[in-house]
Amino acid sequence: MTPLDEAQARIARDISPLAPIEVPLSEARGLVLAQDVTSSEAIPPFANTAMDGFAVRAADTAGASSSNPVTVPVVATVAAGAVAPRALEAGEAMRIMTGAPIPDGADAVIMVELTEAVDDNVKLLAEVEVGNHIRPAGDDLDAGTVIFGPGEVLSPAHLGVCASVGYETVLVHARPRVGVFSTGDELMVGPAPLGPGQIRDSNRPSIVALVEEAGCVAVNLGLLRDDEAEIEAALRSAVGPDATNPVDALITSGGVSMGDFDFVKRVLSRLGDMNWMQVAIKPAKPLAFGMLMGTPIFGLPGNPVSSMVSFELFARPSLLTMMGRSSTSRPVAFALADEPMRRPADGKTHFARVIASPEPDGTWRIRSAGGQGSHQLTAMARANALAVLPDGTGVDAGGRVQIMLLDQ
Ligand code: AMP
Ligand code: MG
Repeated sequence: MTPLDEAQARIARDISPLAPIEVPLSEARGLVLAQDVTSSEAIPPFANTAMDGFAVRAADTAGASSSNPVTVPVVATVAAGAVAPRALEAGEAMRIMTGAPIPDGADAVIMVELTEAVDDNVKLLAEVEVGNHIRPAGDDLDAGTVIFGPGEVLSPAHLGVCASVGYETVLVHARPRVGVFSTGDELMVGPAPLGPGQIRDSNRPSIVALVEEAGCVAVNLGLLRDDEAEIEAALRSAVGPDATNPVDALITSGGVSMGDFDFVKRVLSRLGDMNWMQVAIKPAKPLAFGMLMGTPIFGLPGNPVSSMVSFELFARPSLLTMMGRSSTSRPVAFALADEPMRRPADGKTHFARVIASPEPDGTWRIRSAGGQGSHQLTAMARANALAVLPDGTGVDAGGRVQIMLLDQ
């Protein structure tokens, strides 16, 4: 058996980020920058008011209070997006709205709550200091600042910053297009009740959704019979010189273990440069990984839980690397087991499907999410974490267990 970290390292050797492309900001969320983002202007570009109120000279408010107001004439109104018609003189006020430029001659803003308008005058009810409620030009960014660089994952706030400095498009690593197909004669069911020996294809919907959740584009290549010619035709439609619907990576499920009808294995052995691994984990021991006409292909095991766990451990980190991410693992934490988590010693690391709940103090607690068979997908659906149980006999109630959080 291949140790897990060795299998992961074997795969990582063949995976690299996709070439950068230019995309509009509206399509860039979650993608990884491949350029510097620079502010050509200061942000904010001009001094402006943080409050609705009155622009004044601070010196004019000396000694002002609600019992001893200072009354000055209001000589103009400045809205956001406008500029004052003239400079403010000593002994004057201008009504000003949040975001409007500070008029020349003013050095403070007194908020509207500390004033009382009377006809064309305003009573100032408090003393303010020079600079009060003024956001100076360049308070956020100086002109010429390199704000973000290659490798930065574009969050909603990043996109806002890019827009504020005038970017409409950015250079990012492309979202991989990932072909997904299922194989197995037992899956060829009609709309009617299941025939003898038949089950429905659950892997494709799960894997397609995992691919999309990772931020990639899933290309659904359908359900294939256990038939060499059909499998080869599907592969050639997705990769290589004759591809009609080319993808950047391929994920199959089923047909890669030791059975007599594991045709995916036969086709890939012939067409691809493959590694057939028995990884020292449970579930998801069989794994095929290789390059098929220059494109990485993951042959995940057929059992539904195995295919999802295998995706988590091998395919997802690779897809994130292709997107240019440097951090490719799910968040890990330590949790306390609410019940014994037993397992036999078998030379494998076990990944138990668990429900993890945070206590108010941040401690995680875990309990089994249900049946732990590799065909028991309901427990995977209920789980929000995988508990990593190293080789051995497991832990007692209250024991400490490392968990991989699946929903963050
Ligand atoms: P295989 O790796 O093809 O031998 O499949 C292992 C087990 O997973 C068998 O019980 C298959 O019926 C089941 N299986 C394979 N593919 C799927 C699928 N797409 N959806 C649900 N079960 C599957
Ligand atoms: Mg099969």
